[in-house]
Amino acid sequence: MTSSIEYKAWRVHEKDGAYVGAVETCNTDDLPENEVLIKVSHSSLNYKDALSASGNKGVTRAFPHTPGIDAAGEIVASTVADLAAGQPVIVTGYDLGMNTAGGFGEYIRVPANWCIPMPRSWQARTAMVYGTAGLTAGLCVAKLQKMDVKPEQGKIAVTGASGAVGSIATELLSSLGYEVVAISGKTDQAKSLKALGATEVVGRDVLAEDKKPMAKPAYAGAVDTVGGGPLAELLKYIQPGGSVSCCGLVAGPQLHTTVLPFILRGVNLLGVDSVEIPLAEKQAVWDKLSGSWACKHAENTARDIGKSELDEALKAFLNGASSGKIVLDHAR
Ligand code: NDP
Repeated sequence: MTSSIEYKAWRVHEKDGAYVGAVETCNTDDLPENEVLIKVSHSSLNYKDALSASGNKGVTRAFPHTPGIDAAGEIVASTVADLAAGQPVIVTGYDLGMNTAGGFGEYIRVPANWCIPMPRSWQARTAMVYGTAGLTAGLCVAKLQKMDVKPEQGKIAVTGASGAVGSIATELLSSLGYEVVAISGKTDQAKSLKALGATEVVGRDVLAEDKKPMAKPAYAGAVDTVGGGPLAELLKYIQPGGSVSCCGLVAGPQLHTTVLPFILRGVNLLGVDSVEIPLAEKQAVWDKLSGSWACKHAENTARDIGKSELDEALKAFLNGASSGKIVLDHAR
């Protein structure tokens, strides 16, 4: 049993229907009773954190609450033999930051089977440059590869390309030799999207609703991070036998499409979940990201913020203004 530790966390309170976050002093005695207590040094910012912090009850039911769907740090106490104190770990997904106090606090206590030992070549900050977004981008790319989408088959589209998932997907696909078309609402940031490796930057309005049932095939595959109407349009542009990894919903959860892309061109729509999949599946992608799938541009350009800057940074996610990877450094 570890003695009580006081620590700081960015907690969100509900007051008269409004949700307000602030840095507070907390105590490890108030964390849930789980097997592994972790001192978190870094977390990363994700769209889902912005939903939690703004009171989305599909993500977080009860407040006050500490968001942060991922965390990296060091174990300080553990009741399981193979995860000893001092072991650096990564935790992403499952219930972290949803209804379990998350990485925006300096301590978390989680089940042992949520913890991945830190890859040897990484510090905690590097792990959180990738974070949930990097893991998701990696899973999206792995699914395309599993469907045998190859660089020589044609271009790959990435929607929401400037976002946390989209920017890593763009860099990773490009480094694997794919020709990437970045579809983005921020065409004024074309230079930075090209620096990620995109060969073309196309305005998001190319996927505005169109009554035509199908379009001229343009992409061998795609990573879609936005869902909704843009995904329905994107499916019309996929080449025969092509595949789309679908992971997000910033443009809406509904998908109004026809069966035509599927029955006329054999297009595959591949769902990607990074949250509830078995730890071994996450581990396989972390192993790649810390090795041959390293995204050096993301590692070198990620923005570090402190807890006091969370409020503003999370609001940018909700209005689509966020770009690239943002790391929360608890030491700042
Ligand atoms: P970000 O906010 O960082 O990126 C989303 C990007 O989508 C924005 O930067 C913007 O990029 C674009 N965008 C924003 N609003 C709209 C809109 N109304 N219509 C079209 N495009 C829009 O979020 P994340 O990258 O963190 O997450 C992306 C999505 O993936 C979210 O829905 C998130 O919940 C989901 N997700 C799912 C996971 C899973 O396990 N399935 C795991 C992680 C994330 P641009 O300006 O370049 O177009």
